[in-house]
Order: sequence, then structure tokens, then C-alpha cells
Amino acid sequence: MDAWVVARPGPIATNPLERTRLPVPEPGPGELLIKVEVCAVCRTDLHLAEGDLPPRRPRTVPGHEVVGRVTALGPGTEGPAPGTRVGVAWLRSTCGECRYCRRGAENLCPSSTYTGWDADGGYAEYLTAPADYVYPLPEDLPAEKLAPLLCAGIIGYRALLRCDLPPRGRLGIYGFGASAHITAQIAMAQGASVYVMTRSPAAQELARELGAVFVGGSADTPPEPLDAAILFAPVGELVLPALEALDRGGTLAVAGIHLTDIPVLNYQRHLFQERTLRSVTANTRADGREFLRLVAAHPPRITTTPYPFDAADRALQDLAADRVNGVAVLHVE
Ligand SMILES: [Zn+2]
Ligand SMILES: [Zn+2]
Repeated sequence: MDAWVVARPGPIATNPLERTRLPVPEPGPGELLIKVEVCAVCRTDLHLAEGDLPPRRPRTVPGHEVVGRVTALGPGTEGPAPGTRVGVAWLRSTCGECRYCRRGAENLCPSSTYTGWDADGGYAEYLTAPADYVYPLPEDLPAEKLAPLLCAGIIGYRALLRCDLPPRGRLGIYGFGASAHITAQIAMAQGASVYVMTRSPAAQELARELGAVFVGGSADTPPEPLDAAILFAPVGELVLPALEALDRGGTLAVAGIHLTDIPVLNYQRHLFQERTLRSVTANTRADGREFLRLVAAHPPRITTTPYPFDAADRALQDLAADRVNGVAVLHVE
């Protein structure tokens, strides 16, 4: 099969991805073989390609927002049946036995594995995945609009849960890429007022179109204090203005898996009055199911930019240079 692998992790300008041919993988016990239709491109793929997240095995196929169909079942796998449309997301497996798994926090499992990092992902014609960790997907939505839900959507949804936004509250969103533009719509559908701070003029325009009550530059001060905020941009400096923009008791959730260093905080300006700073780590399957149920009823408007399979490297270059409007989606089939 055709595939892309992270051959030489390093700056995107040095072409860390390599196009190659690999054998079609064999599904192991409990696993599915899935034929990939599309795979959305996530910022984490860029962090893996550039080595910000060190490789866990050599020459791994990236990609963890996969829409495809089950084509075969491994030994002892009970379903879903061949032909079923499924989504493969970032969380590939957890141990099910540790203290975190047992208390419903499987996102914190120290033995968790990830699609496209610990195992080959969706920048390929086929991949395997544990059946217990895939999501059945509706047939009536185009694959290109479903794929971004699987990481950008699910992780954004967890960040929204983690920032403790009160009903009809004021939500600040810092950075307005793939995950943010989906999350903003979920929040607005639930009655929130959304304030968007982002540097890209195209993203600012999109935020206005989607109904943000305020749109400003990346570190601008919103016109009102915020009840909650989510930092999507992987920029530690923005933690300061985001904390400063919070109202008393407000919470800032950092959504990214990678963040540059946070500068020194000033207790009075940034944290006092019971403001909270917290991280978001992956997601649980329960988050994913709840989110997919939510969006099946009210699909968000997702801006996508299609890329042919041959152009996976260009998609990552465009993402690195902020040239992608919405979500880049790789068409594999
Ligand atoms: Zn565990
Ligand atoms: Zn992702």
C-alpha cells in the first residue's frame, strides 16, 4: 500500500515526511483492518514530524483523524462488521486496570497508546486499530466533514468541559484553527458568547462569520471579562493575557499537547481572585461518544481544505505557515 512515514523528524522545511510503500497490516487479536477514505491533518502531526513529540518508534505513519471502513477482523474480534464506517482517533488503547482507568480518567492512563505515534496511523491506504477504540460514524455526512471531528472536535470538546464555562457564559478562545472553530460553534449552540483572539486575518474573518461577539488580535484584551477561556494556540506567552482577561473565578484551559514555555506569572495580575489554569490531556472514549452524539444532531459548519494523498507533506507545510483555512483533509481513497 501507499503510505507516508515520519522518516527524519525535524523542521518541516527539511522534509521530515517520506512517501513509501508498506505491506498492508494484519489486524491482531481484538483489532480491525480499516481501509482509509480520508485523514484530517492535525497540529499534532506537525509536532510529530518536527520532533517536538519525540518518535516512539521509527518510521511511523502519522494521522489520527481517520474515516474509513472495516475490511477485516482480527482473531477474536467480534465487530463491527466489515463494511461498517468507523472513525479512528488519537487515543488508541489504555490498560483498563490502573487507578486512572478505574476512575474513568483513561485519558491519564500511563500505558495509553496513540494512533500515528505508537502505531501506524491514517496517512496510508490501510491501518489497524483496536475495535474497542473506534467510533461508529453516520453514513449521511461526507467523510471530509467527519474526519476533523475525531481529534480537533473531540479534544476541543474536552477543553470546553475542562474550562468550566457557566451556562450562557462568556468564553474566550485564543487561536482559531481547526479545533477552535468547531468548539466555538458547540459553545455558541449551548448559549455562550464567544470572544476570539487570533492573529490570522482569514481566521478572524471566519470567527466573525460564525458569530463571535468580539474578534481581536492574538493577545488583544476582550471588551468584557471572560468567565472561561481556552488556549488553542501552542504559544505559552498567551497564557498571560488569557489569564488576565478572566473574570474572578474564571478558568483557562490549555488545549494543546505541546506549548512553548509560559513566562513568569504575576500572582495578583494572573491568578489571584481564584482564577484557574489547567491543562487538557487527550480525551476519554466517553468524551468522544458524547461529542459525536452532540454533533450528529447539530453538525457544526466545518471549513475544510482538501489535499490529494500525494500532497501530505505540503499539507503540513501549509499548516506550519498558517496557510490552511479551517482543517486540511487528506483524501486517501
Ligand atoms: Zn490505565
Ligand atoms: Zn490531533
